[in-house]
Amino acid sequence: MYDIIVIGAGPAGCMTAKRIAETGHKVLLAEKMEFPREKSCSGILIKKSIQMVEAEFGKIPESVFSNPQINQGIILTNEDDQVFKFESEGYNIWRSSFDYWMAREAESSGADLRTSTTALSCKEEDDLVVVKFKNNIETAQVVIACDGAASRIGRGLLNVSPDYIFTYQTFSRGTIDLDSQFFHAFLDPRLSQYDAWFNVKDDFLIMGVGVKNPSLMEKYHSRFVSFLKSHYNAHIESIVKTEVGIMPYITPEFSFYLGKGRVLFAGEAANLLNPLGEGISSALASGYVAAEAIKFYENPDFMSDSYKNGLKSEIDYMIRQWKFLGEISPKFKY
Ligand SMILES: Cc1cc2nc3c(=O)[nH]c(=O)nc-3n(C[C@H](O)[C@H](O)[C@H](O)COP(=O)(O)OP(=O)(O)OC[C@H]3O[C@@H](n4cnc5c(N)ncnc54)[C@H](O)[C@@H]3O)c2cc1C
Repeated sequence: MYDIIVIGAGPAGCMTAKRIAETGHKVLLAEKMEFPREKSCSGILIKKSIQMVEAEFGKIPESVFSNPQINQGIILTNEDDQVFKFESEGYNIWRSSFDYWMAREAESSGADLRTSTTALSCKEEDDLVVVKFKNNIETAQVVIACDGAASRIGRGLLNVSPDYIFTYQTFSRGTIDLDSQFFHAFLDPRLSQYDAWFNVKDDFLIMGVGVKNPSLMEKYHSRFVSFLKSHYNAHIESIVKTEVGIMPYITPEFSFYLGKGRVLFAGEAANLLNPLGEGISSALASGYVAAEAIKFYENPDFMSDSYKNGLKSEIDYMIRQWKFLGEISPKFKY
């Protein structure tokens, strides 16, 4: 019997589990994969993420960085070929080692970290939540579902069918005439059904596209690569790895899933995502606020209000960011 069960050890789950464990509660942090595990991500920590991580977890270790260590910001080209340069220093990390580090830190703070532990469903029974895992059953006063964009817990409990963007990126060796210090995003609808991007991590040139229809991933990707060849002199010597991911599809009608009864949702499981796929900061922020809200676990209505109120500024920020992107590109009109 746990006080709190946190499902998923990404940024949202590690943040919330660590903070709750520090207050002396008995916490289970259940993760379906073995660490270090891959998570498709560009691995850019914006300033806000760095501040939250360093305040809670301490200095980010050298071992999680990729080269260049500092990301100088984003260069965005809209569908009219207008270029917008946003300079703001962030970090460039590998998610496999970054998440592993955070999960171990949560464990050092007292959370019971269990890997290879897949949660199948949650059900409220007599003021407790019963969580069915693949191999056993656990109960807790509260569950915080941080199981990412495809949230199995969310689908089961809220009866919603989340909407996704599918991402496809390749890691190549080669050369290109684009500044490796920046993340480059292209919004021309001929190149993707969402955005197309280029960034550098260690010796890899990473080229990716976001699509609604997964069967079109490779078609859009090859179009984007041809564009990079013709416009930025890309030369690809070899493709080392391809990666598929998902993220919530944020449209003007989208909803947040903050919780039901004794189950709260944080990070992408709550449908929180900033423009152009920046989601680590909202995952950390919602994990942080969820840990505050569980102080009221004896009264689920109070807990849920506290969570909603605590997230208000984060959600307002998110909506402002989407509106701002809509001014740059009509396809993102909020
Ligand atoms: C291609 C791509 C590039 C991106 N680039 C960036 C970027 O540069 N910067 C940025 O800020 N954001 C980026 N994002 C978004 C970012 O990756 C997410 O917003 C962020 O990881 C969300 O964190 P989370 O903790 O909510 O979920 P996740 O990081 O997805 O973590 C969820 C965890 O739950 C586990 N899990 C899932 N189901 C279960 C289950 N049933 N039981 C137990 N465990 C489970 C998963 O294995 C995983 O460890 C990118 C996303 C994509 C797809």
